[in-house]
Amino acid sequence: MCGIVGYIGHRDAYPIVIKGLKRLEYRGYDSAGIALFDGNTLEVTKTKGKVADLERVALQKNSMKGSIGIGHTRWATHGVPNDVNSHPHYSNSGNLVIIHNGIIENYEPLKKELIARGYTFHSDTDTEVLINLIEDVQVNENISLEKAVQIALNQAIGAYAIAVFDKRVDGEVVVARLGSPLAIGVGENEFFIASDASPFIEYTSSAIYLEDGEMATISLQKEICVSKIKDGALVDPYIQKLQINLEQIEKGGFDHFMLKEIYEQPHAINDTFRGRLLPNEGVIKMAGIDDNIDKFLNAKRIIIVACGTSWHAGLVAEYIFEEFARIPVEVEYASEFRYRNPIINKDDILIAISQSGETADTMAAIKLAKQRGAFVFGVCNVVGSSISRETHAGAYTHAGPEIGVASTKAFTTQITVLALIALRLAKQKGSIDNSQYHYLLHEMEQMPSKVTETLEQNDLIEQIAEVYKDYSDCLYLGRGFNFPVALEGALKLKEISYIHAEGYPAAEMKHGPIALIDENMPVVVIATKKGHYEKVVSNIQEIKSRKGKVIGIVTKGDTSIKAIADHVIEIPETLEPFTPLLTTIPLQLFSYHIAVKLGKNVDQPRNLAKSVTVE
Ligand code: GLU
Repeated sequence: MCGIVGYIGHRDAYPIVIKGLKRLEYRGYDSAGIALFDGNTLEVTKTKGKVADLERVALQKNSMKGSIGIGHTRWATHGVPNDVNSHPHYSNSGNLVIIHNGIIENYEPLKKELIARGYTFHSDTDTEVLINLIEDVQVNENISLEKAVQIALNQAIGAYAIAVFDKRVDGEVVVARLGSPLAIGVGENEFFIASDASPFIEYTSSAIYLEDGEMATISLQKEICVSKIKDGALVDPYIQKLQINLEQIEKGGFDHFMLKEIYEQPHAINDTFRGRLLPNEGVIKMAGIDDNIDKFLNAKRIIIVACGTSWHAGLVAEYIFEEFARIPVEVEYASEFRYRNPIINKDDILIAISQSGETADTMAAIKLAKQRGAFVFGVCNVVGSSISRETHAGAYTHAGPEIGVASTKAFTTQITVLALIALRLAKQKGSIDNSQYHYLLHEMEQMPSKVTETLEQNDLIEQIAEVYKDYSDCLYLGRGFNFPVALEGALKLKEISYIHAEGYPAAEMKHGPIALIDENMPVVVIATKKGHYEKVVSNIQEIKSRKGKVIGIVTKGDTSIKAIADHVIEIPETLEPFTPLLTTIPLQLFSYHIAVKLGKNVDQPRNLAKSVTVE
């Protein structure tokens, strides 16, 4: 995920593009770049860092001229954040230049083909492959840029919003989208391009939002021509009038980043799958695992280290790994692990989980494990982060930037990555049979749409939040795969609403917490149909007998719990190991709505920070 901005018109493009990039920095901020064309010279300036760093570099150059410009603020997916990997990227001839938001999944075979045809690559990005593919098509077939983009995109698999221009054709930029957003602002003899409308809102309120699978040629001479990428068929563009303010646009119309990120989860999980989960071929492809498969197969034990929400994802992974891959797993708080004298053997694998990839305690645990000879694998969201560099191998979650301090999409995508790893290993080890494996892959593919279905419960959850917002405590119970989800639900409530909450394995209630239950104690019980269902129903009876209030998270169509609980929130049916991806959604929304109703600062709760770099 990243931000893209473009301008074609009569004004100086540089200040417009820079200001637009700053507004889109919430989408990515590890590097930034701009290409400017003044009718003669095409000049690319780019750097690792934020847009402010780009401005500093540009200031030294002192030649930021041109009324055509395209700019990018990157969230690296392929290649660490550095100057060379930053966008824009040139084609080999230097005639074409591109900015790209997304992932080209089949960049590797395309790159091999292009290398065989004499192309050279300077960066590690998938984007540089795409621009050279476009050039190759253009040169071979001697066609316009527009046509070359269309043909090349039909060979590319993945997600993209791109803007490309050819320095030999003044006043024209070709854009396209599939799976990543792209808006075109339409002014008087000028056009704007951006990931959302925030970069151009003060210049024009007329915008065309390209649909998935559409491309457009924006030309000062010929205006805008929108067409289908698939077959080039022309599309009548719908120009809409924007009636929104800046704030609303940056948060995509949501009131808070946290809510936006909760709603991004179906998309984020899809991005985690992209290029890895191939159910029809019966394959899970993960370079970090594939390249080190012997290490994983010979591992006597996996130790997962993490902190906070990532630790909860680690606990879910423990259940999933042991269920499918039959490898013993221990999950440790990084801070505890590093300050004792843990037993680490050479045939242990340490998996470190961290959204930011900068968590100081997790980093220290990695260093310790490496000193003792263990193989260390990272699961991070931020590409090029310290942890991703310190580990021997890893897998990114590709969730896109998470701005809300309370982690949501990072959690579900961490579980997704870890589940993919567990299934990949299970297949190789033969610990699950072939038909079960295929069934699991297909079911996994359904998870984004099942998350979307779960999100439809939002209004109901908001009503339930209204009932419980003034309570001072809350218990969360779950069993098996959903015990860690109970912990995560309690953490979310504590973090953003400051209400005291505890998560427990449901069966542990009778060993202590049951003493707390009276009419002032709401208890959120995760009671999906498969996970020790009867036992959990008994736990609910025990709570009701003591006048506690029960909010049940149940499988769609459940009637038994509906009859005894005060409220039920339904999730779609799925296999038990995958339920955490669904049961966690209502708990996120419940905390969110309570915090909003209490007037708390949801995105920046007191005393907390997004990336904990202190030990
Ligand atoms: N895949 C591209 C890269 O890693 C674009 C990433 C983005 O959307 O920022 O450079």
